Amino acid sequence: MLKLDAAKPNDKFTAGVWDEIVAKVANSGGAEGPAIGIDLGTTHSCVAVWKLGRIEIITNDQGYRTTPSCVAFTDVQRLVGDGAKNQIAKNPANTIFNAKRLIGRRFSEVTVQEDIKLLPFRVTEGPSDVPKVVVNHKGNEHQFSMEEISSMVLGKMKEVAEAYIGESVKNAVITVPAYFNDGQRQATKVAATIAGLNVVRLINEPTAAAVAYAMDNKLGHTGKKNVLVVDLGGGTFDLSVLTIDGVGKFEVKAVAGDTHLGGEDFDNNMVKYCVEDFKKKSNKDLVGNERALGRLKVACEKAKRILSYATEASVELDCLVEGIDFSMKITRAKFEELNMGFFTACIKQLESCLSDANMSKGDVDEVILVGGSTRIPKVQRMLQEFFDGKELCKNINPDEAVAYGAAVMAASLSGRKMVNELMLIDVTPLSLGTEVNGEVMCVVIPRNTPIPTKKTKTFKTGDDNQSSMETKVYQGERTKAADNYLLGSFIVSGIPPAPKGSSKVEDCFEIDENGILIVTSKVVSTGKTKSLTVTNLSGRLSKEEVEKMVKDAEKFKLEDQEYKRKAEAYNDLEDCLYALKNKIKSNDMSPNIMKNM
Ligand code: AMP
Repeated sequence: MLKLDAAKPNDKFTAGVWDEIVAKVANSGGAEGPAIGIDLGTTHSCVAVWKLGRIEIITNDQGYRTTPSCVAFTDVQRLVGDGAKNQIAKNPANTIFNAKRLIGRRFSEVTVQEDIKLLPFRVTEGPSDVPKVVVNHKGNEHQFSMEEISSMVLGKMKEVAEAYIGESVKNAVITVPAYFNDGQRQATKVAATIAGLNVVRLINEPTAAAVAYAMDNKLGHTGKKNVLVVDLGGGTFDLSVLTIDGVGKFEVKAVAGDTHLGGEDFDNNMVKYCVEDFKKKSNKDLVGNERALGRLKVACEKAKRILSYATEASVELDCLVEGIDFSMKITRAKFEELNMGFFTACIKQLESCLSDANMSKGDVDEVILVGGSTRIPKVQRMLQEFFDGKELCKNINPDEAVAYGAAVMAASLSGRKMVNELMLIDVTPLSLGTEVNGEVMCVVIPRNTPIPTKKTKTFKTGDDNQSSMETKVYQGERTKAADNYLLGSFIVSGIPPAPKGSSKVEDCFEIDENGILIVTSKVVSTGKTKSLTVTNLSGRLSKEEVEKMVKDAEKFKLEDQEYKRKAEAYNDLEDCLYALKNKIKSNDMSPNIMKNM
């Protein structure tokens, strides 16, 4: 049995083991208690909760409403969030960001290899083609999977929520890009488990944003609307066309996007441009200089934001390398030119999404912008032009809408009677199918099929007297099966001896309302069936690995607490000494005693 978007994944640490891990998490707090909504973003994360009759976006310990999805390792401690981001320039090799771009992917993937080239920290190949980051922590080398890094960010968001709510939080609705495949979704769930969270539900980011929009605009009173959610964040681009009908029914019509397109790519293009400029001006190559590249990236991201309201910005860095300063002006027009390829790709996806939804531009009542990168004027202009000058909806906060919608969903699922029960009708983001002769992907359930659904395809034997047939289940849009994401495989045996092509096997793909996929193969002549039991998923973590990660996370948490306790004790001691010193001063005691303090 395979599950696509339910609370329980299917893979090699399947059924019983997963139940055990989730039960451990749930039992340590139970399914009751507050449920939070977490937007686990590429660059920033945001947490919200239903409290005192409304949704609250929770501020972190620094007073910010979003927290950098960044983890740093130093000689003395681990930092997560603002603390990690603030020291990135001096510790680039041990400060990890962008985990969302790598989570659930294979090390050998082209996009992963491309990303690695631009990252200032080391990413290596772990067992089963899993990418792992290598850092130096407290004088020792450590390797972490993306699930672990994301779990640290989720753990931080959990702590932020607990500090605000005043009690332990176990349950969360976590958002993922609509276009995430099963592997990326399941890896996100593993990250939550390591962080001690029970995933009540994973929901798609644009759907969460649509929920926020509907709440904000009290759509229950205005009836049916077709909305397009455009979510362009730090690392992902997500589109969803939804119909919001009456109170609380959200029907996804189609999704599209790119889990590898966002603000980070725009920053990287600007960094490349600066590196070329620096080379021209000073004849020095910055490639491989992690510290300089890290500083440039921070400066470029700032300049990019400035270009959203000004037409010119500058990137200025003292002593970038060998004492040479760097100064460069960049215009908005240049920034747009550098990234035009990405912007055009966004519009192409939009056309495909509307066509999959069987809608024309005129059918769209509202275009909702979410994600920090939708602030880029060119992106807004291109969208507005595409919709023949239509006003875009900017009245929901693009940084907070996703967490807001997730918190509404969390409250609804945990039985808080603050909203009418929400009904989300989803679609399959990617096609599901099986490999046929010539390693070709044969699609059984096409992408954007509403769920629940059931589809059947019949296959003939390829050899004389063939007694068994293998079904390999893939997810994706590529023609060559192996280029897609392998969900699992199984073999149906007991096909009676017969000439090639005369025996038939019927594959039935069924997804129920919880997103659970069951694939059953039936030998037509005998009626013998076999359902999918996943045996050879690659790129996954074993039960032992996940359990070790849960233990390590606990150890890290205790170490962090111990470090904080020591730092506070030291601070108290220093306070005490100052107070004593002042007292001695005011009592006019011997200068010799004071000198020694
Ligand atoms: P999100 O994933 O939604 O938090 O979006 C984060 C991305 O939005 C990052 O790449 C930011 O650099 C980008 N971003 C935030 N504000 C702006 C802005 N004013 N102009 C351009 N990009 C922005």
